[in-house]
Amino acid sequence: AMRRLPYCHRGEVVKGFGRGSKELGIPTANFSEEVVECFPSDISTGIYYGWACVGNGDVHKMVLSIGWNPFYKNIKKSVETHIIHTFKEDFYGEILRIVITGYIRPEKNFDSLEALISAIHEDIEEAKRQLDLPEHLKYKEHSFFHLPEGKIANNH
Ligand code: ADP
Ligand code: MG
Repeated sequence: AMRRLPYCHRGEVVKGFGRGSKELGIPTANFSEEVVECFPSDISTGIYYGWACVGNGDVHKMVLSIGWNPFYKNIKKSVETHIIHTFKEDFYGEILRIVITGYIRPEKNFDSLEALISAIHEDIEEAKRQLDLPEHLKYKEHSFFHLPEGKIANNH
């Protein structure tokens, strides 16, 4: 069964697998293995959208991929967030908070890099549209984004 959304999560941004997401114009902030392990298993793999904030920064739209990590023979998950915002600098080591509000599609394999990139661009457009709707827009103000560090646990 699928967990009811929204779902909140937070954790440090770590180095990913260097798959060159940034070179494709779609950088993805990766959570550490430990943080991913705290992800409930009833959030199935696939592409999601919601809201994200880095440190004490502003809340932005995001798309999120929950997938199987090829580096661990696909037995561990990876969770990667593309924030729909242009940052001046990288933010490795910062705390990323996300509120997942909706689901787009399952994971897919693509025949070409071009097909993958165009699918991600469609996901981003879909996320932007959905997040403007009142039922998703309201979570931009979720208290999870304003709680002080240390006082929050995941999914509060
Ligand atoms: P990695 O393999 O280390 O995850 P990526 O190419 O996926 O490398 O780039 C991710 C990094 O880029 C993030 O950890 C973050 O520091 C930075 N970054 C800059 N802008 C964004 C953004 N809009 N969304 C996500 N990460 C971003
Ligand atoms: Mg990444």
